[in-house]
Amino acid sequence: MKELRLVFLGPPGAGKGTQATRVCEALGIPHISTGDIFRREIREKTPLGVEAKSYIDAGGLVPDSVTNGMVMKRLSESDCKSGFLLDGYPRTIEQAEVLDSFAKPDAVIDISVRDEKLMSRLTGRRECPECGKVFHISALADQEKCPICGAALVQRDDDKPATIRSRLDTYHAQTEPLIAYYKAAGTLHEVDGEADRDNVFKSIMAELGI
Ligand code: AMP
Repeated sequence: MKELRLVFLGPPGAGKGTQATRVCEALGIPHISTGDIFRREIREKTPLGVEAKSYIDAGGLVPDSVTNGMVMKRLSESDCKSGFLLDGYPRTIEQAEVLDSFAKPDAVIDISVRDEKLMSRLTGRRECPECGKVFHISALADQEKCPICGAALVQRDDDKPATIRSRLDTYHAQTEPLIAYYKAAGTLHEVDGEADRDNVFKSIMAELGI
């Protein structure tokens, strides 16, 4: 399989997690989602999780001092030697600079979706706590139950409308400048995230030349 160091950029609700899962399966590289790592630390009530929770609940970013060390430690593990996909990192220019000094990404995929679409995607998002799959309520016959394993679906705390607004503001203020950063580096690829998910996947693979 092709060795690639990839970054998925884009606002919350753009479909980064869904697409990252498919791309990682296709390429055989690890999917590193900082949001998923933080949520696991919060569930396990570790000191890192306790610290991260207040920032996540407020729709802001966990400080770079915490996040950078956590990601560099993960990237030092042996499964990342043959490539990786970062989903939700970097989210600030400082994080991008830290990543560049560790391992420059080969390609950065920006999945763009307008704010008005993101709001309905995020308020309708539900997760299965058992199998980890993510759904939108509009696609579910029974909006309470996981159609795969039958467990009761849950809404992420930070998918409540007030927190979503803060997350979008945080994205525009702190993360969107990375588009220009990676454009200048010559590694940016832009994909329309409003297309249906199969077409978004095809566009990403085409951008990667696969
Ligand atoms: P996500 O699942 O990617 O939407 O991340 C959920 C939350 O985790 C974000 O709203 C942030 O509070 C936090 N988070 C995830 N990745 C980062 C990062 N790279 N830097 C700082 N905070 C992050």
